[in-house]
Amino acid sequence: MLTSGWKSVSMVDVHGKVTFTLWLCGCNLRCPFCHNWRIAEGLDCFPLDRKALLDELEASAFLIDYFHVTGGEPLMQWRELSSLFAEVKLLDVPVSLNTNLTLVGPLEKLLKADLVDHIATDLKAPPALYGLPEKPAEKLWRLFLRGLEVVSDYGIPLELRIPVAKGFDAWPYIEEGLRRVKTDFYVVLNPLVGRPLTNPRDEDWCSEHCWPGREVEELRERLEELGIAVHVNQFMEGSPGQALSSSV
Ligand code: SF4
Repeated sequence: MLTSGWKSVSMVDVHGKVTFTLWLCGCNLRCPFCHNWRIAEGLDCFPLDRKALLDELEASAFLIDYFHVTGGEPLMQWRELSSLFAEVKLLDVPVSLNTNLTLVGPLEKLLKADLVDHIATDLKAPPALYGLPEKPAEKLWRLFLRGLEVVSDYGIPLELRIPVAKGFDAWPYIEEGLRRVKTDFYVVLNPLVGRPLTNPRDEDWCSEHCWPGREVEELRERLEELGIAVHVNQFMEGSPGQALSSSV
């Protein structure tokens, strides 16, 4: 497997939980705000030393709530990930997967094998946030909605992250996504930030759409009116070599 590294104890990658976090390389999306684009594009990556990882995980297991895998998009390497999760399960450590939920077939295989205990995903609304042409982006949005249904079918607890950008009418998509969620979940709002805090993939896009203002509070109010638990992050998921970075 190709990785960019791991952190044996992290308190910032899953809300309110302590995780052992592994970053895997590659991604099928091109989000313009991505701060992990070097990992997503397979740069700064090296083969995973599985034995070293599992030894370190075993040593930290008493401290952590989840073995959390993020990226990039971890399901790009789903076969190897499946066997890694099986080994982690032998250590009696719960597994959390951060995925963009568009690789639905691989996702379903892992859930069917009972290898995942928690999912974190981004509801990227509108699908223009995928950074792809309109037609593929709409198709990926439909796959994401299907992914939400699959997670719900298996009753996996969900951290639903919503990246908040400036200048889009995201609410119709957010509502469409929320209608698919029928499992335990809470929302984490991630205001998109750019330089100097992060190094986004597309600085021009970010100068137009990053650093939202009132959008964040407005969205929080709308979600809370629906009775949804909402947390607001000022910072994104951390990764090795970056003070702040985005999630999948
Ligand atoms: S934000 Fe996540 S899904 Fe988007 S390109 Fe980056 S790693 Fe991939």
